[in-house]
Amino acid sequence: MTRPLIGTSWKMNLTSSEAAAWFAAAVPALERLDDRDLFVLPPFTAIHVARDALCRTAIAWGAQDVHPDDAGAHTGDVSAAMLADLGCRYVEVGHSERRRDHREGDALIAAKIAAILRHDMRPLLCVGERTPGRVAAALDHVTRQLRGALGASDAGELGRVVVAYEPVWAIGVGAMAAPLDHIQAMHAGIHRWLAARDASSTPVLYGGSVDATNAGPIVGLDGVDGLFVGRAALDPETFIRIASIELEGGRERD
Ligand code: PEP
Repeated sequence: MTRPLIGTSWKMNLTSSEAAAWFAAAVPALERLDDRDLFVLPPFTAIHVARDALCRTAIAWGAQDVHPDDAGAHTGDVSAAMLADLGCRYVEVGHSERRRDHREGDALIAAKIAAILRHDMRPLLCVGERTPGRVAAALDHVTRQLRGALGASDAGELGRVVVAYEPVWAIGVGAMAAPLDHIQAMHAGIHRWLAARDASSTPVLYGGSVDATNAGPIVGLDGVDGLFVGRAALDPETFIRIASIELEGGRERD
């Protein structure tokens, strides 16, 4: 039985004061969940709040972006060294909103991953096709993203990466999670890509309109190693319900 990894990125939501209230509401219930791994990625401005709230728990915290350089003249950016110094364990890269809003491409994403690994944190790489369609076409797109971001990584490095499969069409307000058969087929394809590079233990999370109702069925699918939750997690009670889902049946992988 693999330990599922369940986390959230708050995107550009929650001030540091609101973050403190979120942790006060959520941590007592979350810290009792000792058969799964949890993480929270607040905005940069609330990472120190996460550290203070989580440092005596097993719950990890991290960041939603990083600059590829360790220091220098990059106004407004934040380096991996700064994030490591704040105790971050995970750093997200490649989210479709950053690819869209900041035109981030494979080379930049790969450089960010290298910086995260240099500072002993785990990159959480988001991949996903833009429009709904057949699994073969979606896998083609996702495989190109994996190759672009991770093609130069060796098996040891791949073993420290977390992949989040997030179909862009299933993310955000008005969207619905992808159908279970699509998720399962995509996770199988991503695991095949990783296994061919000796990285069969790299976790592959699902993200995209996860809520308290669909979390159980999704995490019960073969090849789904956990969940990456967006807007539903902004309500601490809902994140507690998602993080607390029953873990039964279908989670065994050999
Ligand atoms: C995301 O964008 O990474 C995400 C999972 O968002 P949501 O759950 O809000 O669809």
